[in-house]
Amino acid sequence: MRLKVNLKGAVQGVGFRPFVFRLATELGLKGWVINDSSGVEIEVEGEEHVLQTFLIRLNAEKPPLAHIYSQEVEYLEDKGYENFEIRESKEKGKKEVLVLPDIATCDECLKELFNPQDRRYMYPFINCTNCGPRFTIIEKLPYDRPNTSMKVFPMCEDCFMEYKDPTNRRFHAQPNACHICGPWVSLYSSDGKLLAERDDAINLLIKALRDGFIVAVKGIGGFHLMCDATKEESVKLLRDRKRRLEKPFAVMFKDIKQVSVYAEPTELEKALLLSPERPIVLIKKRKELAPSIAPGLKRVGAFLPYSPLHHIILKALDFPLVATSGNLSDEPIVKDNEEALRKLSLFADMILIHNRDIRRRCDDSVFKVVGGIPQPIRRSRGYAPLPVKLPFKLPKKTLAVGGMLKNTFAIGFDDTVILSQHVGDVENLETQRNFESMVFDLMKLYEFKPEVVVCDLHPRYETTRWAEYVSHKENIPLIKVQHHYAHILSCMAERGIKGKVLGIAWDGTGYGDDGTLWGGEFMLCDYQGYERIFYMKPFRLIGGEKAVKEPRRVALSLLFELYEKDVFDIPLPTVRSFKKSELTTLYTAWSKGINSPYSSSVGRLFDAVASLLNIRQTISYEGQAAMMLEDLYDPYVKDHYPYLIEEKHIDWKPTVLAIIEDREKEKIPSRFINTLAKICLDVSIRLNVEQVCLSGGVMQNDPLVGKIKELLSDRGFKVYTHQKVPANDGGLCLGQAVYLLV
Ligand SMILES: [Zn+2]
Ligand SMILES: [Zn+2]
Repeated sequence: MRLKVNLKGAVQGVGFRPFVFRLATELGLKGWVINDSSGVEIEVEGEEHVLQTFLIRLNAEKPPLAHIYSQEVEYLEDKGYENFEIRESKEKGKKEVLVLPDIATCDECLKELFNPQDRRYMYPFINCTNCGPRFTIIEKLPYDRPNTSMKVFPMCEDCFMEYKDPTNRRFHAQPNACHICGPWVSLYSSDGKLLAERDDAINLLIKALRDGFIVAVKGIGGFHLMCDATKEESVKLLRDRKRRLEKPFAVMFKDIKQVSVYAEPTELEKALLLSPERPIVLIKKRKELAPSIAPGLKRVGAFLPYSPLHHIILKALDFPLVATSGNLSDEPIVKDNEEALRKLSLFADMILIHNRDIRRRCDDSVFKVVGGIPQPIRRSRGYAPLPVKLPFKLPKKTLAVGGMLKNTFAIGFDDTVILSQHVGDVENLETQRNFESMVFDLMKLYEFKPEVVVCDLHPRYETTRWAEYVSHKENIPLIKVQHHYAHILSCMAERGIKGKVLGIAWDGTGYGDDGTLWGGEFMLCDYQGYERIFYMKPFRLIGGEKAVKEPRRVALSLLFELYEKDVFDIPLPTVRSFKKSELTTLYTAWSKGINSPYSSSVGRLFDAVASLLNIRQTISYEGQAAMMLEDLYDPYVKDHYPYLIEEKHIDWKPTVLAIIEDREKEKIPSRFINTLAKICLDVSIRLNVEQVCLSGGVMQNDPLVGKIKELLSDRGFKVYTHQKVPANDGGLCLGQAVYLLV
């Protein structure tokens, strides 16, 4: 008999065909295997029971990086094949194969990298079918060398032998290369002079790092700016040059041992650090690196080397490196050599480039353990473009454009939603262009043509405007989804939830369907719609956007609600941080509602508490005040403040009054967070919906989520948090994609 198998999923570039070749040969089966645009196709002939064994072992022993999403099997009459062969790839049909993400250097390649006897000793581009770049080098499908940025490097004889040999680890490893035939690195000075090439370049770079210089290094999905993470002078200089005041820098450590000197990773965090995706993981600090790395925070963003070049550099140094995205502020990460020499020379003393082009930028991913479970804060390199599988099918090909901040977008078809890599904030012209080109890029890669486009409700998001334009131009329907509802939908979709849920969507701000700014919502949701049941009592954001940067304005607004003008004479740090004349102006703005929109945001309540405690009166990056409060949580503090649940509102006034009167200052952050968790419990009991989904940026707060889960599960509720996409706006597009489409 003849068995025909069609596999779809992430099955190309993972060593699938050689695996099939070995398996079929071992079982004495004849036939062939081939890659096409929709996946892998296999035909094998032999005895029926052997064919069954083949099928079982095909699934059980498949290569570790392969993800099979669908498998069609057919038994047919045999054709009398004479041997088993791997046939040339063919381009046909719909592009359904999934592009793999970029995978960190595997252990076998690492051994070769540092083995002086190996022909790839210290070769910064070593890789095999189990590791190496994928998403960032692909030009089009199917995934074959001529369709990648490796096409300009013809393989030498040795490399080609490996590439052709089905028993070799590098069989059809598309980026396969070596010192002789592959890409190499070059080091430039900031004024554009070539300093050195190949090994000499790396040695010179290592010396520069030891001497405290700042360098730019081309990686997998873009450039990093690097310097000695223990040398305050260098880190401070990098901050000055980048004009980045306090936003934390990520730190690359050579290994887990070195991480453990400076931080206290749990077993779970160690596993995340070592995973082939190699994300940045936010871990509790142990010993201070340079103080300017993450000022005022108790956590550090740590990650391990993931390209051979990183391994070579880190191995030569006895200190960890700051490794932050190489970009001008508010611009996307730099990926091209020419652009790096032009832009990054403003920050870096030297620039290490290489001649393997990056086809699409891909920032590092970030994870944090929240309430005991790893949660993506940014889902990008290592994860994009792997899809999220849905518990149902989308009726239409859907393009979901996401939000404005931390943007990602998605294309959805059948039961598959492919989320883009991190795009970033889509605010200025440069980032808008970048957003648009990334959308076109992903659609082109999959030959995807949307039948419907979905966006946020906010009329002033650039992504909303763009979606309106596309809808008009392509003559396809446009659907707008409320921000917080989309947050909850994204949690439901990634966790495969059906039926009704209580969605608790807490974040900074999002546009509500009544035109005010939401962010403290309790909603009853299913895929067809939502009902806003309870929300934080709205308060004014004095000065609108300015209140986001100045927590003291939010606190002052709450104080006006409580004391009106009398607050001028109360000696609170919030009040004292303003001049008398400012207070008068702000009071007028507040009482008359001048540029002071109403908001129900819990994110802003965190800001207000930070101001009342004099932890922060102003902030220099989003979420800063809330992160500092989170760090001050003490699990041994069990009590909470009073609050009121009214017909629609959760009234925070009793809470704020109690905070002002609390003499045990150090316990205030814990009691405040406990109060928020208790509110969630009370509302859940009132609404009595078994499934509760937590989403929105505030739900990245570890002690808060931990406490909510503890309280709610004790009462029999099933609490769902994010695991695949971020709870912040980086996950919005998934929620948008699934609305109304079930
Ligand atoms: Zn490898
Ligand atoms: Zn070679």
